[in-house]
Amino acid sequence: MAQVSANLNRCVAFPHYVGRFAPSPTGPLHFGSVVAALGSWLDARAVGGRWLVRIEDVDTPRVVPGAAEQILRDLGRLGLEWDAEPVWQSRRGSRYRVAFDALDQAGRIFPCACSRREIGDSQLARDGSRRYPGSCRNGLAPGRVVRAWRVRSEPGEVCFDDALQGRVCEDVERDVGDFVLLRGDGVFAYQLAVVVDDAEQGVTDIVRGADLLDSTPRQIFLQRLLGYPQPRYLHLPVATNPAGEKLSKQTLARAASLANSGELLRAALVFLGQALPGASRGESPRVLLDWALKQWDRRRLPVARMHVAPAFAFE
Ligand code: GLU
Repeated sequence: MAQVSANLNRCVAFPHYVGRFAPSPTGPLHFGSVVAALGSWLDARAVGGRWLVRIEDVDTPRVVPGAAEQILRDLGRLGLEWDAEPVWQSRRGSRYRVAFDALDQAGRIFPCACSRREIGDSQLARDGSRRYPGSCRNGLAPGRVVRAWRVRSEPGEVCFDDALQGRVCEDVERDVGDFVLLRGDGVFAYQLAVVVDDAEQGVTDIVRGADLLDSTPRQIFLQRLLGYPQPRYLHLPVATNPAGEKLSKQTLARAASLANSGELLRAALVFLGQALPGASRGESPRVLLDWALKQWDRRRLPVARMHVAPAFAFE
């Protein structure tokens, strides 16, 4: 695959370990996001690594005002301290533009005029979205309005070894098709923003929910095109309700109650299969986290894409 060079600020050889938590501020933290934050924090801190927080507010129409600030306050109350000033995607459009232009100059981008309805008839991709059938690949008919810019995919499997889920492969061209990097309303797509940010922040290890497992081959595909290093991945089981639905606003997940942050951390540690100290009830987050750091063991993590959350996490 030909690489383009996208003038990276600080994209150097990997230091030891840089992890990150990258919440989308579309609502308050819920149990599932606490699990992702805690798992990533413990995995980084247990080896003396750095841990960063990035507010993924690139999709501005979906952002709930005040949610990002509340997430940061709640992480602080849980004792999940971060190392550098949080990065806000909404302030980084110029960085995404540099990467986008580099791909464009390399002939990897094309404008697409297809409406949802036009794509609606094509087969389903693995994550439930529609596979793009390549309709606009060879140019637009005169007068058609551009609705998005897509990256040209390539046949062939993109594989990686997830530290928990094992080897994962996807043929991006066959299973997803050319995917959107920039929307017609000027919003850069999550897939591009996350890849640029992880590279520029020097992230070496991505620990996040397995709902993003199917996005990872697309992200690796972009990393390769842009000449970025590939981080290591560990996808944690996603917290679900008893019906097997991911906790989210739509599935009536409760906002994580920080009234008893120790209990919340205990429940998240149990979810992650970690050992708890004998008499840990009533302990402060700091004591629990110190203990959890000493005991952190990736081998105890449940190997699954989904795992039911405790009852208090949903209604
Ligand atoms: N912002 C994404 C989310 O909240 C997470 C992205 C990531 O960890 O790569 O689901």
